Amino acid sequence: MAEPATNVRRVIPLVPVGTANPEAVRKSERQAARLLAQASFFMLFIMAPVFDLLRYDLVAGHAWLLGHPWQAGLESLSSGRSSALEAGLDVLLRVFVPILAVGGALLYVAWRWGRLYCGWLCPHFSVVETINRLMRRASGKHSIWDKRPVPARNPDGTSTRYDARWWFVVVPCAIAFAFLWAVVLLTYLLPPFEVYGNLLHGTPTRNQTIFITAGTALLSIEFLFARHLFCRYACAVGLFQSLAWMSNRDAMVVGFRRERAADCASCYSACDHVCPMRLKPRNVKQAMFTCTQCAQCVAACETVQRHNPHGSLLTWVSDEAARRNEATMGLTGSRKESA
Ligand code: SF4
Ligand code: SF4
Repeated sequence: MAEPATNVRRVIPLVPVGTANPEAVRKSERQAARLLAQASFFMLFIMAPVFDLLRYDLVAGHAWLLGHPWQAGLESLSSGRSSALEAGLDVLLRVFVPILAVGGALLYVAWRWGRLYCGWLCPHFSVVETINRLMRRASGKHSIWDKRPVPARNPDGTSTRYDARWWFVVVPCAIAFAFLWAVVLLTYLLPPFEVYGNLLHGTPTRNQTIFITAGTALLSIEFLFARHLFCRYACAVGLFQSLAWMSNRDAMVVGFRRERAADCASCYSACDHVCPMRLKPRNVKQAMFTCTQCAQCVAACETVQRHNPHGSLLTWVSDEAARRNEATMGLTGSRKESA
């Protein structure tokens, strides 16, 4: 139908409609910050041995920490420069205290805010998310173990075309990540300049070749077939964070505004379909044991509900609100089924 002629001047918005909503702006800022944190930590993971920030040197027989040799103190005992008591104290102060301090800080963060380390920093989770995205393009599934493909639709209304040719990207990408990881792990044990120098000249030693080949093969299998299973069941760092988080009823959780559950009727369960850990975000905390606080479900809901004046149904909540969230979840049961 032709538009009626009018003298009213059209106002062109200065910002795109989709980003004018404050929740949508927050969503993109939060996910951009997370991406930056993940990329920075991945670089740190690669570069830490190069700058002797953290590594154990099998050749020198001691660790490096922040550019300085880091010895347990046993060498002074064996050379007769200190007594057994002094050596024991050295081991306590130089090994156990730093490990307990770092472990304690990680557990405190997890107790208070959940597995933030996993969702925002861990270099393994960066690989999980990257392979998920590529695998979805190839098969419609985030993982080969998913029963059904997720909808082609994305939270912002666009759609992703699935094409089996993406497998030619998925598999090389997983192998490339595995090779990178194998090389980097080796630099945590041997002098990095020797490892990289040998690789550049095509002259790795026999043991280096075995380590890198075996590491690449095992990690390729893990990245392609078991990356979520590792995060869920095999990673001690993740497991202890989850246990600390579960023990605190006031800890930050993804909260669901259950009183507005009717608003979900117009949605295709976007939150369920974006979760990289394949969780159902509108569920009780016990069923979210492996949640990595990546907030992708929150971002999906903020996008889907961007025109809703009441905003997103999913938000991070803590303290009293976290307890209330669990209470309402417990009273009314869990979520509606995925579409
Ligand atoms: S919580 Fe948000 S994203 Fe999830 S189904 Fe409801 S409206 Fe959709
Ligand atoms: S439930 Fe939400 S915050 Fe937790 S892992 Fe899944 S998408 Fe990330």
